[in-house]
Amino acid sequence: MTGEAVVQVHDLTKIYEPSPLWMRFLLRSAIDSPVRALDGVSLSVGPGEVCAVVGPNGAGKSTLFRVLMGLTTPTTGHATVVGHDVSRESRRIRAQVGFMPADDRSLFLRHTCWQNLAFHGKLQGVPASKLERRIDETLEMVGLSHARDRAGHALSTGMRARLQLARALLHHPRVLILDEPTGSIDPIGAHQLLNLIEELTRELKLAVLLSSHRLEEIDALHDNVLFLDLGKVVHWGDLDALRSVWEQPRLTIEFKREGAALEARDVLIRLPGIELESVSDIALTVVTPDHLGDLLLHLDRLVADVSSVNAARMPLRDLLSKLITDSRGAEREHDASP
Ligand code: ADP
Repeated sequence: MTGEAVVQVHDLTKIYEPSPLWMRFLLRSAIDSPVRALDGVSLSVGPGEVCAVVGPNGAGKSTLFRVLMGLTTPTTGHATVVGHDVSRESRRIRAQVGFMPADDRSLFLRHTCWQNLAFHGKLQGVPASKLERRIDETLEMVGLSHARDRAGHALSTGMRARLQLARALLHHPRVLILDEPTGSIDPIGAHQLLNLIEELTRELKLAVLLSSHRLEEIDALHDNVLFLDLGKVVHWGDLDALRSVWEQPRLTIEFKREGAALEARDVLIRLPGIELESVSDIALTVVTPDHLGDLLLHLDRLVADVSSVNAARMPLRDLLSKLITDSRGAEREHDASP
């Protein structure tokens, strides 16, 4: 943590209750039994920090964002943004939070970048005397000065994302909530946008919560990750801590002698916890909880035939899906216990 937390969430639970039957009939999509969208979530984000919020659909990411923007109240628990309580001070909260939605539907595509920002600035209560300068500064910050007078529909997807980022920054918030900011952008544009977000986070000492389905991006962010599943925190903290507990390296062992890999497979598959990924005459790949040295000990005389060993990091995707399987398994055991 680089300073006192700007966003603080403690044991937050949000249960959506079903509406009365007549209302459900009118709303069509309303639920008919309570949904626990957040279940005991705690986290904190300090100035200059990015917290990536990850999880499958329905994990509770949007609900968490809505709570932090003062758009819905938690059922139990407590959350503050810049010291303001999200349940009681929603107007103050909105002045401190900049939000970037996942799509560009809220942009006026027939209006220019400048006009879009002017409209939003007025809505956010930026004083008229400061508005013009503020817009120019913000456009500069996100690299859109050259497109100041270009209409929204003439911008590329990446530029529209930057315009949305500018809009979120315009009222000088201390917190940014970015809902899949790179969702529709090509990989190079996405990489540049993430770099920009990281730069601004450090420079402006923002506390940033960012959701993404692109796991390689999360891996590259190096900051904290909040991993939610079915409303519960499966992991909160940095990815290295997660890897040090959960990671199982993927080892590829190559042999000099044909057939040696098949013999090694026959030895290794008898060991507990080993998963065989692939095997050929001269190479095999396994995922293993054991250290390399222990594994080679089991190979005994076959070690003399080994020509190389390559250990790869477990892809984040596999790491997270393992975490989900384990946490759902633990949940079932907990439910089944007397
Ligand atoms: P995510 O953003 O991770 O996909 P959400 O926060 O949208 O997850 O949803 C979490 C759970 O809450 C889901 O089961 C979803 O169906 C439910 N949910 C979300 N919003 C509402 C709502 N307004 N009314 C009832 N249930 C909701």
